[in-house]
Amino acid sequence: MIKKIDHIGIAVKSIAEAAKLYEELLGLKITQVEEVTEQKVKVAFLPTGDSEVELLESTDPEGPVAKFIEARGEGMQHIAFRVDNIEETLARLKAAGVRLIDEKPRYGAGGAKIAFLHPKGTYGTLIELCEREE
Ligand code: ZN
Repeated sequence: MIKKIDHIGIAVKSIAEAAKLYEELLGLKITQVEEVTEQKVKVAFLPTGDSEVELLESTDPEGPVAKFIEARGEGMQHIAFRVDNIEETLARLKAAGVRLIDEKPRYGAGGAKIAFLHPKGTYGTLIELCEREE
């Protein structure tokens, strides 16, 4: 079951550029920057209370984040919910006929197990499920 909003993913052209707003003006702090090669992105996490903002910058013009920005411009790209047991959650959603992008979890930033649900089955929002150590 869902425990909380783990993070909100925001696609930007440049993390360094966006950091001027998020750090200098909004007062958040980038605590972790990581490259997720499989996803062709560099990500920066900014804790915001009990959740985080995840800034996503593409490292490849053919990557999913570059494609997203090309199609829709910079902005909110996904919402990630923290779950206890991602395998069980995926199995339950699949059995209920929800369209999944990832049938099995893969490893995302910070070693979290993650999986995406297809926005066509979630009223237009790209949803990420995320299981990680507290
Ligand atoms: Zn994410």
